[in-house]
Amino acid sequence: MKIDILTLFPEMFPGVFGSSILKHAQEKELVSINVVDFRTYADNKHHKVDDYPYGGGAGMVLRPQPIFDAVADLEHNSSEKPRVVLLCPQGKTFTQKKAEELAQEKHLVFLCGHYEGYDERIREHLVTDEVSIGDYVLTGGEVGAMVLTDSIVRLLPGVLGNAESAVTDSFSTGLLEHPHYTRPADFRGLQVPKVLLSGHHLHIEEWRSKEALRRTWQRRPDLLQNRPLTKEEQLWLKEIEEEAKKDL
Ligand code: SAM
Repeated sequence: MKIDILTLFPEMFPGVFGSSILKHAQEKELVSINVVDFRTYADNKHHKVDDYPYGGGAGMVLRPQPIFDAVADLEHNSSEKPRVVLLCPQGKTFTQKKAEELAQEKHLVFLCGHYEGYDERIREHLVTDEVSIGDYVLTGGEVGAMVLTDSIVRLLPGVLGNAESAVTDSFSTGLLEHPHYTRPADFRGLQVPKVLLSGHHLHIEEWRSKEALRRTWQRRPDLLQNRPLTKEEQLWLKEIEEEAKKDL
């Protein structure tokens, strides 16, 4: 996979992309991440990328020319037509499902806005997807582009080892993940659930599945509304509800 990130602040990226799993994924050539300063595409003497908004008002607006030309250049050097993703608080909220969808692509281009925003023609004529990372406003799209890159790259085949497998992660199964414990079994009188020490794999798997369901029911009941439950899960859910009543 190739990911191009168009930004005015390329110096923000090396720390995140030069560490840990993202660094190893690039070293193993599972992904190529290219941070491009789109100011270099500005066709005026002072490489000006923004201008005052028509109609007046506060803030500067990113001009279309540098961004159109940068994307055309990246497309020209690519065998696949890229998905061009605009980071934008007005876009659809990013989810694990969207990360899984984008992880199927060969070439992604992320556009990081800044200042007040960008000329609307960029959104209308260049962009294939608009993505927000949450209902709040950031100073720029860079942090969002890092979030998207991290969540997408970890899904690429070969990036995570077994120890970090994404299969049971929260949201991948439609549920939040079950709780984890490690040594010691008794930490200052706080005990690890006995079943996890039993060595009985089936019982451990059942416990984990039920606890994932309990956690989701407690914290994110909205996730259960769109996820069909197996017969076993329906029974567990009844038990979980009864157990919660007893705890009151
Ligand atoms: N005036 C814009 C509005 O009200 O929709 C906000 C512009 S914001 C200050 C500058 C840039 O930060 C945006 O163009 C976008 O690229 C990025 N940004 C801000 N909040 C974001 C969010 N929640 N998700 C993704 N990108 C965001």
